[in-house]
Order: sequence, then C-alpha cells, then structure tokens
Amino acid sequence: MRSAPKKYNTLYKKSHIERDMYLPRLDPKGVIQCSGCGAFHYRRHWTLTPPGGFSSQIHSHLVFCPACRKIQDRFPGGELTLRGVEAENRGEIVRILRNEESRAREKNPLERIMRMDAANGGWRVETTTEKLAQRLGRSVRKARGGKLQYKWGHNNKFARVVWCRDAAGQADRG
Ligand SMILES: [Zn+2]
Repeated sequence: MRSAPKKYNTLYKKSHIERDMYLPRLDPKGVIQCSGCGAFHYRRHWTLTPPGGFSSQIHSHLVFCPACRKIQDRFPGGELTLRGVEAENRGEIVRILRNEESRAREKNPLERIMRMDAANGGWRVETTTEKLAQRLGRSVRKARGGKLQYKWGHNNKFARVVWCRDAAGQADRG
C-alpha cells in the first residue's frame, strides 16, 4: 500500500488497497463466503447472490470480507454526523439510513453502516466506505431538507459528512 504512486484512478487504487489489506486467499474453487455477513467473493467482486452451483463451504478457519474486517477493526472509511435531530424524528432517520444502506448493499455488499452513536443531540454514523457516508447524507437531506457539509482526510480516503437540520448550524459554502 505504500508502493510508489502510479497512474491508477482512485477507485482502482482503493480496491487494490482493500484487496491487499483485507482479502483472504482464494480457495481452489475461486469462491469465498464471508463468515460474518454471508457475502460471496467471486470473480473479484463481492455479491450477496451466490454464484451458480455454489454449495455451502466448510472453512477450516473463519473468513471475513473487507467490510466485516473493517467493522471488527473499527476502521471506518466514512463518517456521517447528524446535527439537530429531534427526538420524535429519530425513528424515521434510522429507517432512512437503514433503507439506504440496504439499497447500497444490493450493489456492493461492502457498503455497510458500522455503528451509530448518539452524540450531542444528534448522531455519529460510521460507514465502511466514504461513498456510503455521502450517500446516507444525501438520503437524509432528500427526506428532511437541511444542509450537507463534506470534509476529506487521509488522502481523500476518508470522508466526514455533516448534516445540519436547519440554517443555524449551516456551514459556509463555496
Ligand atoms: Zn462480511
């Protein structure tokens, strides 16, 4: 992961890093099933749908997908902070976040909510990918209005997304 910079685009580089850090070796059949979430790794992609002809594997040791490993290691790729969530809206916000997570997982099982903590009258939501943090923020804005603010760190590999319900906590734009 610290090799000399090459002309990879960001997405390729990211998946390359994740493979290096988190992907176990392929078994002879080329299919891995995560012992945590049950996702399948097949032809270099993670999917929730088992490839044709797949019958359940017996691993000699537990195997985890990158998302489950990140959750175990508490190594988030993104963070969404929700500010000014009123108590009566909490249930709805959680539903919005979980629905959006399910939709994201259908396409990419590695996009997961790692944890949600109540913090200062709002929430802090950790996600396995920076993309999911942005996506969750947009879904809350779409449903509830308010403003989004983005901050980047770790060479743009980590996104902090802040959603504010009203203009009082609004960030400068531009
Ligand atoms: Zn998993």
